[in-house]
Amino acid sequence: MLTYEQARQKVIDQVSKKRGPRGRVGMSVWDGLGYVLAQDVISDRAYPPFDRSTRDGYAVRAAEAKSGANLHNTGEIKAGDTVTQSLTPATCIQIMTGAAVPQGADAVVMIEHTRAEGETILFERDAQPGQNIVPRGSEGGSGQVILSSGTRLGYAELALAGQVGATQLQCARKPRVAILSTGDEVVSVEKAPGPFQIRNSNSVSLAAQVRLSGGEPVLLGNAADRAEDLREKIQQGLKEDILVLSGGVSMGKYDLVETILRELGAEFCFDAVAIRPGKPAVFGRCGETIVFGLPGNPVSTMVTFELFVAPAMDLLSGAEARPLPLLEARLGAALHEKPGLTHFLPARVEWHATTAEVRPLKWQGSGDIAALAKANCFLVVPADRAEVQIGELVSVLLRKDVI
Ligand code: AMP
Ligand code: MG
Repeated sequence: MLTYEQARQKVIDQVSKKRGPRGRVGMSVWDGLGYVLAQDVISDRAYPPFDRSTRDGYAVRAAEAKSGANLHNTGEIKAGDTVTQSLTPATCIQIMTGAAVPQGADAVVMIEHTRAEGETILFERDAQPGQNIVPRGSEGGSGQVILSSGTRLGYAELALAGQVGATQLQCARKPRVAILSTGDEVVSVEKAPGPFQIRNSNSVSLAAQVRLSGGEPVLLGNAADRAEDLREKIQQGLKEDILVLSGGVSMGKYDLVETILRELGAEFCFDAVAIRPGKPAVFGRCGETIVFGLPGNPVSTMVTFELFVAPAMDLLSGAEARPLPLLEARLGAALHEKPGLTHFLPARVEWHATTAEVRPLKWQGSGDIAALAKANCFLVVPADRAEVQIGELVSVLLRKDVI
């Protein structure tokens, strides 16, 4: 059986062959958060566009502004001022943060290191050439690619696009991810369940995870554990970039998902992973569609989505697969788990100064959504560890939606 790292790598290898956007959409810089660029963004000007002062103070020649020197202040430059004057010998010019440094000056001395006596400025420290000046073009040249195709747009990337006037961006269309739950016992969350029925919470979590991972959920509802119904709804799902099924992939008599997918021509890369929860997870392709069969227990569905579906979505947008948000933390309570599988336990990580401490939460197993809703991470217990002691360093998979 594959480890989760091997299984994840298989997903990345397979989907990398189909990497790239499935089409482009024009997007305003205001609406681009979470999209992946499908174009290079080119700077329309050098940045900074002029030698910029990073301090409020005095523009000087460093060689003249030695400790104890007095220089005559000849004027003032504010941010946004058009600068025409140049610095004449044995003088300084008052300058504000963000203003253009005048010709002749090679340093800015912060106001805190000076004393003004009328128009004469006393310097209390030696100035160094270049200090407190960001030279023109040092952050980026005009005509230079500053964001390349495949970059995920977060707030800094969007600000950079805004800085160079790229207000319309060609982005990858978000991957469309069909979500199909299965099970005779499952009813829509909008309906009142019968005494032995349960609401379709998996479609809710999956839709949220798809959105968080930068995709567009396509809700197909629930299929009964009957071949005809499953076949029909799976065929619907095969029209999308990715089809994610929940339930029906275990060993039960009515677990038909794999059989129907196979009938429809699916080829599988794996149909089990050495993890708990989530062991029966299935990954393959059917025609042009990437298919995941995730186990139906809600926490299994959530964990296997994060491990396996999320990287596939990244690659279909033309981006790199984002690494798992893993962190090392000190274990706050001893653990005993059955060895052989990597366990993902709902847990809470807390930060004390700079150290992270993690404690597993009480739970009733992989059906326990209430436990997961109290968790901010999964504690990862390696397959070869039956016992982990208090204070040992363990790996933690962060829930990046709540941290
Ligand atoms: P399965 O993987 O089909 O054997 O289902 C495993 C467990 O998950 C069963 O207890 C199901 O009732 C439950 N389950 C399956 N699908 C869903 C769903 N869509 N929402 C919530 N629980 C589910
Ligand atoms: Mg089922």
